Amino acid sequence: MERGKKINTKELMKVYNIEPVKKLGQNFLHDYNIVEKIVLSADIDKDDCVIEIGPGLGVMTSYLAERANKVIAVEIDKKLIPVLEHLKEDYENIEIVNEDVLKLDINKEIIEKYCSDKNVKVVANLPYYITTPIIMKFLEENVMNLESMTFLVQKEVAERICAKPGGKEYGMLTVAVNYFAYPKSLFKVSPSVFIPKPNVDSSVIRFDVRKERPFHLKDQDFFFKVLKASFAQRRKTLANSLSNAPYLNVTREDVCKALEEMGKGISIRGEVLSGEEFGTLSNILFDIHTK
Ligand code: SAM
Repeated sequence: MERGKKINTKELMKVYNIEPVKKLGQNFLHDYNIVEKIVLSADIDKDDCVIEIGPGLGVMTSYLAERANKVIAVEIDKKLIPVLEHLKEDYENIEIVNEDVLKLDINKEIIEKYCSDKNVKVVANLPYYITTPIIMKFLEENVMNLESMTFLVQKEVAERICAKPGGKEYGMLTVAVNYFAYPKSLFKVSPSVFIPKPNVDSSVIRFDVRKERPFHLKDQDFFFKVLKASFAQRRKTLANSLSNAPYLNVTREDVCKALEEMGKGISIRGEVLSGEEFGTLSNILFDIHTK
């Protein structure tokens, strides 16, 4: 693999007088083997437009720019922009967007502006305090031409996303992510590759976005509400948790009837249902809810 312009993380922090900001989840990578491994896992080629979330000091950005057609680097911290601007002297294919990624309309402000005719891949060492909102934003917003996302996340988040029904890690995030994508946990990453070291282990996870949804939903928002209520109080039966959620507008009898229709016992809990079974349950309850 061609190497990107090597950036010495510690040196850059000194030269630009950068102190990592904890509340922005700033844990910078300083191990180039890990950077290379992440970029290789993302499987990027010259037809790809890469969106990098939180480029930080640009350690991964240059490696991405070596391989991709274009890299759009979205960084919230304006203190880091001069460091990133420097990279553009060596790589003309980098665009820097100084914004909060959660506030962007990705299709309008990124894809249509920079890369509407390219395959889109998202790559990031994610700020851990907003991991789930970022993942769900990119999946729910129907980002045009989005093929895959490769993220460094907390190990525990990767385990939740890849969990199987029945276990304690299985939950709303598992079902929601699997509805949009095929997630795969790739490898673990130790705290020692970051400055400063986080208190948790990390994992690299890749999501290949589904071309078609795995099952039909009458109403996607209602499905997410059913998931939310099902996992809000995990120890409760579905009949209790769903009928207690005012936003669903269904009774205990309605839920029991729906479960019976599905061939399920009325005392089951949410953690045993597969994604598709949640889809069926949500479709039956949606008809009752809208009556
Ligand atoms: N990619 C760099 C690396 O690997 O060294 C930095 C990763 S650091 C874990 C997370 C980065 O995300 C930081 O640069 C932080 O400023 C940025 N960030 C935090 N919140 C953000 C947001 N809402 N939108 C865009 N960037 C954000």
